[in-house]
Amino acid sequence: MTESFQKSQFLLRRSIFFKLFLFFLITAFVLVVVIRGFFFLGIDRNHTFKADLFKNLTRYSQQLVNEVGAPPDQERANALAKELGVQFRVNSPKQSWATDQSLPPVTALRIEQTFSDAGAQVGQFRRHPFVIVERQDTQYIIFFLHRPFGELPAWSFALLAGLVAFVIGGSYFAVRRLIRPVYLLNKGVREIAQGHFDHQVPVASSDEFGELSTSFNEMAKQVREMVQSRDRLLLDVSHELRSPLTRMKVAAEFIENAPAKEKIQQEVYELETMVTEILESERLKSQVGSLTLAETELVALVQEVIKAYTDHDPGVQLTSSPERLLLALDHQRVRIALRNLLENALKFSRSKFGPIQVRIAESTNTVLISIQDFGLGIPLEDQVRIFEPFYRVDPSRTRHTGGYGLGLSLVKKIMVAHSGEVRVASEIGSGSTFTLSFPIKNREV
Ligand code: ADP
Repeated sequence: MTESFQKSQFLLRRSIFFKLFLFFLITAFVLVVVIRGFFFLGIDRNHTFKADLFKNLTRYSQQLVNEVGAPPDQERANALAKELGVQFRVNSPKQSWATDQSLPPVTALRIEQTFSDAGAQVGQFRRHPFVIVERQDTQYIIFFLHRPFGELPAWSFALLAGLVAFVIGGSYFAVRRLIRPVYLLNKGVREIAQGHFDHQVPVASSDEFGELSTSFNEMAKQVREMVQSRDRLLLDVSHELRSPLTRMKVAAEFIENAPAKEKIQQEVYELETMVTEILESERLKSQVGSLTLAETELVALVQEVIKAYTDHDPGVQLTSSPERLLLALDHQRVRIALRNLLENALKFSRSKFGPIQVRIAESTNTVLISIQDFGLGIPLEDQVRIFEPFYRVDPSRTRHTGGYGLGLSLVKKIMVAHSGEVRVASEIGSGSTFTLSFPIKNREV
């Protein structure tokens, strides 16, 4: 099977557009064949019509032969041919001629009916009727032509091809127009799936597709309102939690019993991190709280963040980096992102596999920071979801490590706000590499 054949098979199976287009073409073809066949068979079977026609043609031909005369007068025949649009071929022992050289010889003619009393035979040649009249030793063949024999002129085929192309092209564009709302809806669904709840599908018609588009927009609005009220609730709760958390922190300081104190302080720390991450995420969403960009030396920033973790098992190393890299960044936010990635890498690593490796690289249009650990790794099906808020891989794993599944979602928001992105490549048992990429337009030179 060739590649193009496979591609067309794929299109046929997958594309409603091509199915509809093909369906229209096949329907048109079948209709033409059926209608044409119906009339063709209908008329052909109508023997009485044909028999009457042949009888009348025979009588008429007798008159024409009388006019041409015996012996036949070629001048007269030519004049009749010109006047009436009939053509003559004459065969006798003395003379043999035709009023038009393209007339077929008598041997090419197939007789359909014989009128022996009138001494005539009738048939059709290329759908034109002819009559053969025998008078003594002379044979007169009269052809009834609407136009001369011969091929159709070349331009008529060009016209036909043009018309067929026009009809097929017209049907192609009509189907495309018909199916356009499906493409728009599909795009809308993808936008919603990516969290762009403001997206509206244009309602271009008042048919079923139009109704579907209206319902879709209504649904998107409802989802938007639901998400907004969920975010609002989360934000309000987070705000409310801040004061009791601060009071708990202070109160914990006064606890005497050391192990309980540490446990409480750890829990309070985690709750506080969660609240901060929620509030930080929300601030990044709003215009007011978006980035404070400033020219930043990225290499120094990374080194500074790493420094705080070098004592943590299994350690962190900056393995490759340019000397200096100036970028327009919100250094507070980038610091949070780096910290979150490093803390995760340390949390899910094992000391025997060596330290976390950080690399900084620049290409023509991006600056990349990758953080590689040799720890547990992340299952493939979870890799797309770990950037969602509150998503955690396997709760039994995270029970020991703590966290609420907000760190990576915040990292993603920070990167999106910088017009950059965060990616993960991971394999179970081998470790994970998280890569932050900043577009070079953030670069200050
Ligand atoms: P949390 O604060 O719970 O760690 P994150 O959003 O930072 O939340 O991470 C989401 C989940 O992704 C974590 O629960 C963890 O299972 C997984 N994960 C993140 N980083 C790593 C890593 N370096 N190695 C293995 N798993 C990771």
